[in-house]
Amino acid sequence: MNNFIVSARKYRPATFASVVGQAALTATLKNAVRTNHLAHAYLFCGPRGVGKTSCARIFAKTINCEHLTSDFEACNECESCRTFNEQRSYNIHELDAASNNSVDDIRSLVEQVRIPPQIGHYSVYIIDEVHMLSQSAFNAFLKTLEEPPAHAIFILATTEKHKIIPTILSRCQIYDFVRIGINDIVEHLMQIATNEGIAVEPEALNVIAQKADGGMRDALSIFDQVVSYCGDKITYQAVIENLNVLDYDYYFRLTDSFLSNRVADSLILFNEILNKGFDAQNFVTGISSYFRDLLMCKDGATVILLEMANAIKDLYVKQAQQCSTEFLYYALTLSNECDINFRTSRNKRLLTELLLIRLCQWNDKKKDQLADNAEPKPIEKINVVVNNTATAPNSGVQNTPPTSTGYLKAKTPSPTPLPETSKQASSIPPSISIHSTAADSSSQVSDIAPPKYKAKQHESFTEQALHQAWRTFADEKIPEKVHAKNFMINRLPNLVNEDTIRIMFDQPLQKKSFAEVQDELKTYLAEQLRNDYLTFEVEVDETDQKNALFTSQDRYAWLAEKNSALGHLRKEFKLEID
Ligand SMILES: [Zn+2]
Repeated sequence: MNNFIVSARKYRPATFASVVGQAALTATLKNAVRTNHLAHAYLFCGPRGVGKTSCARIFAKTINCEHLTSDFEACNECESCRTFNEQRSYNIHELDAASNNSVDDIRSLVEQVRIPPQIGHYSVYIIDEVHMLSQSAFNAFLKTLEEPPAHAIFILATTEKHKIIPTILSRCQIYDFVRIGINDIVEHLMQIATNEGIAVEPEALNVIAQKADGGMRDALSIFDQVVSYCGDKITYQAVIENLNVLDYDYYFRLTDSFLSNRVADSLILFNEILNKGFDAQNFVTGISSYFRDLLMCKDGATVILLEMANAIKDLYVKQAQQCSTEFLYYALTLSNECDINFRTSRNKRLLTELLLIRLCQWNDKKKDQLADNAEPKPIEKINVVVNNTATAPNSGVQNTPPTSTGYLKAKTPSPTPLPETSKQASSIPPSISIHSTAADSSSQVSDIAPPKYKAKQHESFTEQALHQAWRTFADEKIPEKVHAKNFMINRLPNLVNEDTIRIMFDQPLQKKSFAEVQDELKTYLAEQLRNDYLTFEVEVDETDQKNALFTSQDRYAWLAEKNSALGHLRKEFKLEID
């Protein structure tokens, strides 16, 4: 490589067809050439290094070409094309507005615009970073942009479209360039490597493409950097070393230790990562995106959201098959929490290690859950059901869904006042608590329903019905000025058992405000749900004592309101918010 030319220059696209990753846009430009519908001003916007200037140059060359190909590309052979390719064409003028943004710069440009081209039909003026022009420079330019001579075409390029004033925007045809996909970059780099006689591992190119973040120019300069380090054989290991990227193999191995409950292994691996000079926070963000990627692999529909080369995708899909979706939700929630708390933590290493330990405990939690479901239902549960069927033979409402019982049972024994009949019935098999329907309950127990309870109502109801009544109460029954109205709608209660309603607040103040409306609410609910045995459990979440706004508690509450699954997750695993 004696006369080394940087790849970004050497492999700059020369035709529309060779522009990578902007197919829709180049097709439109080509179409404009074909139909000869040329505008006087174009605005090319998009991130850096995605081909704006290259496209502008190709466009300028193509509209001046004397013998367009059948495909409406520049021939690269005629006099005009050759002057373009040798960078001595007088038909193209480039101005970098970042360094030439004064009125004088624009005035001298405007002077030039009036001179018609010597060869070819059009003079093309490319103004790069056009958003950097000063206000007065913009104004000086506006007149020319409004009434340009027939031979002049302006191509304005910018990375910051929102900074362009509307008067300019409205005079331009706007083209939005997109970030270039990982696969497109990898393919392009692969082609270049083949041309240069360099052997590459696809994983290595994937790392480069990810690092380039959608910009081809960046990808090419990283590629050059790697080539100068590795020579003519680019391996994955060499690339991650050179670019200081954490080997995804670490994530795979860590996940294995999470799934098989090997705390020590995970901590040792983490130590190894730190010893390699990686920062703990980068590791936490890295593992978060890794879990996110695995989650995307779980569903055929979301695999397209995975930004990586196909070769790596397969590895991820394989790893994803070993993880349940529940585990991934759990892992994502934990690692995201860790990420959020990172800045404020005094012992960042411990915080990260704690994350790893909790992830390793996943299987324990899983076993606990299974055990919970398998063990026979405790007495009070059966009582509750029998009690329910005995006193409300005609209620068509099902019991609380069994999914929530595992957690609820563990937390609170039933404080329900039970009618005497329930004791006789405790021999009824536990399955009834799940499967009893209105029909069979009435046939079983209608005889023993004691008449003395007729006066009080005692029907079972679902959590849904409870939420409905709760919302109506907050909406319609609480006067506007009462504070509780503000938070009750968003703070729905849980049904602990058939008569016990738990309300969890995250601030003592809310509990206080709630107390003002509590009695009225109880009466209302009793009426609506036809149950006079309701009791409330009002609690304040102890995990947050600061009561300040924008604590992780608030953030969690906000997230949980957006996505109720998060709330379930938190309850399932009894997670606390730090
Ligand atoms: Zn030509």
